[in-house]
Amino acid sequence: MNNNRYKILVIEDESNIRSFAKAILEANQYQVITSDTCQNGIMMFSSHRPDLVLLDLGLPDRDGLEFIRTIRSLQEATPILVLSARTGETDKVEALDLGANDYITKPFGTAELLARVRVALRVSQYSGNPSLSLDGKFFLHDLMIDYDRRIVSISGNEIKLTQTEYNILVLLAKHTGKVLTYAFIIREVWGPSDDGGVKKLQVNMANLRKKMGIKPGDNRYIINELGVGYRMCEE
Ligand code: CA
Repeated sequence: MNNNRYKILVIEDESNIRSFAKAILEANQYQVITSDTCQNGIMMFSSHRPDLVLLDLGLPDRDGLEFIRTIRSLQEATPILVLSARTGETDKVEALDLGANDYITKPFGTAELLARVRVALRVSQYSGNPSLSLDGKFFLHDLMIDYDRRIVSISGNEIKLTQTEYNILVLLAKHTGKVLTYAFIIREVWGPSDDGGVKKLQVNMANLRKKMGIKPGDNRYIINELGVGYRMCEE
C-alpha cells in the first residue's frame, strides 16, 4: 500500500452521506478522516492538515460557511468542496465567494465525486494553472492563449477579442476547472465599484462564446453554471 496518499477531511452530519463519501474515497486510495460538526471539523483541520475538505453547509452546531471563513482567514489555501442541497444556489454562490473551490450537488454519484476531487487536488497542486506551458502559452483542446503576444487562437486560427473579452477568457483560463462566480469575475475584470455588472458580463460572455464558435447550450471550453457563474472545463 502506498503511504503517500492524499488525506481528505469529510465534514457532514448525515451519517449515510458521510459513510458513502468515505467508502468511495477509501476505495480509491484516499485517506479519509471525518467530522459531524463544524467546530470539531476546524479542530481536525488544524491537527490533521488534510489535502482537501468535503464540507456540508447545513451542520448542527454552526453554518458550514463559518468553516470556510475560519480556514481562509488563516490564509490556508487547502481546496474546499462544498456538498450542497439541490436548491441552494445562494448558498453555493456565498460559499464560492468566501473561498470554496467548487461544489457538488446532492445526491451525487461515485464518478462525479471522484472527478471533482481529482480536479480540485490538481488545481491546488499546480497553483491554479495546470495547462500553462513554459513559454507562456495556455492550451486546452484546440484553444491556445499566448500571454506574451495576447493572442487567442482555435485550431491555429486567430480570433479577435476585445480587451474585456480577452481579460475574461484569461481569468477563466487561470482558474481552469474552478467555478468563478459572477461577482468574482465582475470584480476582477471591471473592478470593485462596478454596478449592473451581471448583464454586462453576460453580454460579453455571449460575444466571447460566439467568437470561439461555441453554440448556445454547448459546453466546449466554457461551462455556464446557471445562476452561479462560469467555469473553464478541464477535460
Ligand atoms: Ca447537513
